[in-house]
Amino acid sequence: VFSIMRDSDGYMQFQSNQSDSSTAYETPSCIPSIRIIEDAINKKYGISPLLLRENEPTVSYLYSLDQAGKKLVSLRYNKTYKLWMVLDTRYYLIINDFLKNFVLYFIIFLTTCVSFFLLVRMVVKAENRREAEILFQATHDPLTRLPNRLFLQKNIQHWLHNEEPFSVLYIDVDDFKNINDSFGHATGDALLIELSNRLKVYFNTLSKDPFIIRYGGDEFVVFLEVTQDELLRDVLHTLNTSLDKEYIIQDMRLIASVSMGIAKFPEHGRDLDTLLRATDIAMFASKKAKHSIHIFESTMEEAYLGNVYIEQELRKALQKKELFMVYQPQFDTHGHFYGVESLVRWHNDRLGNVPPNKFIPVAEASGQMPSIGRFILSASLEEMADIHRHFSTSFHTSINVSIKQFLDVTFLEHLLKTIKETAIPRFSVTLEVTENLFIEDIDYILPLLNEIRGLDIKISMDDFGTGYSSLNMLRKLPIDELKIDKSFVDEICHDENAQKMAQSIIAIGKNLGMLILAEGVETKEQHELLSHFGCDRFQGYYFSKPLSKEDLLHFLQTTL
Ligand code: C2E
Ligand code: CA
Ligand code: CA
Repeated sequence: VFSIMRDSDGYMQFQSNQSDSSTAYETPSCIPSIRIIEDAINKKYGISPLLLRENEPTVSYLYSLDQAGKKLVSLRYNKTYKLWMVLDTRYYLIINDFLKNFVLYFIIFLTTCVSFFLLVRMVVKAENRREAEILFQATHDPLTRLPNRLFLQKNIQHWLHNEEPFSVLYIDVDDFKNINDSFGHATGDALLIELSNRLKVYFNTLSKDPFIIRYGGDEFVVFLEVTQDELLRDVLHTLNTSLDKEYIIQDMRLIASVSMGIAKFPEHGRDLDTLLRATDIAMFASKKAKHSIHIFESTMEEAYLGNVYIEQELRKALQKKELFMVYQPQFDTHGHFYGVESLVRWHNDRLGNVPPNKFIPVAEASGQMPSIGRFILSASLEEMADIHRHFSTSFHTSINVSIKQFLDVTFLEHLLKTIKETAIPRFSVTLEVTENLFIEDIDYILPLLNEIRGLDIKISMDDFGTGYSSLNMLRKLPIDELKIDKSFVDEICHDENAQKMAQSIIAIGKNLGMLILAEGVETKEQHELLSHFGCDRFQGYYFSKPLSKEDLLHFLQTTL
């Protein structure tokens, strides 16, 4: 209610509430009297009645009078007209009003809070999901969806801390590179996916939550609870039968096999590195046999270490000029020198003299054969060209060519270039190949051999009778010379079967129009017997050991 009162006598001058108006103007003083209010204000705010009138502040004051409850009064004095302007409201109305508004605003506030909370929760959830996704991507291989190396490193502790024995299985696809090279990477990838699916299916039948990791390109690591040898072999043989089944990829039927290496915790290692190294060593043994399963044994270590070390040192051998050639003289039926077989040698500071049949296989396996092969060809032909200049004539030079060299597409180009540079006549160059050349892609090898032969370069079949051979194949091959392997020559004087073998080889070779060379001839008896059987050429310690270029020069100067 808004009212205006006169200060002098408290008479109401105006009251907004119409219903009271009749009596209001007749009541001499407003309720409560101005004086009481003045007192109360003085008590509460410390504003004296004088100041209240002088400064004209607006003051609010809460008081209760009747049963109707409290009232809130705001008043202000107007000194010009000496009037009090009073605004009073029942307190419960204000409270009601406040409550009404408060509830409304509270509801708005609450909904805002809840929405905000939900929003934050959604953001956090999305963020967590993204984080989990990123973690998944970092720890899983996108191709096979299997956990990767990082995952293995993060989760290995669980296995190691359990102290329960377990086995680590290392799986590597045999000749995967060939599959990739021949059919393309898409096919290779599809094969890996299918293979990993077979792994998942198989190991899921063995345990609830198998731990299969794609460790590298075509390498997988699996943790197994089985540790007993017999049982392990059983489990893995069964796995092999599943993996050996043909893979149908883009309408092609492919066959792939794997090799496996196994190490056991804690027997073969108490940490991941040691265990994986042990599986690697066991794998090395498996790779030799291919498509086989090996459980780590300490005896495997030596062979593995030796080869790893040889491989590392061999990589530096060419640059450090540790490789060189020696030449073993060859003789005809009349005992006349006509040529040499060139043989590679390697002397390493730490390993000493490493025999070629030890490091050539390492060079082949580690992809170093093309470059070492180029060195062998160049060095042999250059040094022999030097020898030729001393005698103004040319001798035969037989050079061993490894399969891997032969398969290198730049091989023939390099050979012809070297022959041209050294001015050695092509007809005095012989390439010695072995039977295992024909296990490889015969459709590639045969035309190449024919091309070489067409260029007047000779082909010799080394170690004949020791490897894979088919007489039918021999018939088709453009071969000039057959070398009877040393193992037959060794036994020829006291083993009838070896004698018969040598005789048969000579007969077959002659029938096919080839020259026959006996290698590893160490005694006069061997030489005589082989001469008698019809051998055309001889090589061996009986005549001469392999010689350095200088020694060969000296040898020729004294014998020719
Ligand atoms: P291979 O081609 O059959 O070489 C003959 C091996 O018999 C040579 O051993 C030679 O020194 C040895 N030898 C020759 N006559 C006798 C003998 O009367 N008695 C005995 N006990 N041994 C004899 P080397 O030089 O150690 O070579 C071993 C194998 O290493 C070679 O067998 C060949 O397969 C490979 N090799 C050697 N040099 C090269 C090369 O330059 N390139 C390639 N790709 N392989 C090579
Ligand atoms: Ca040879
Ligand atoms: Ca040989």
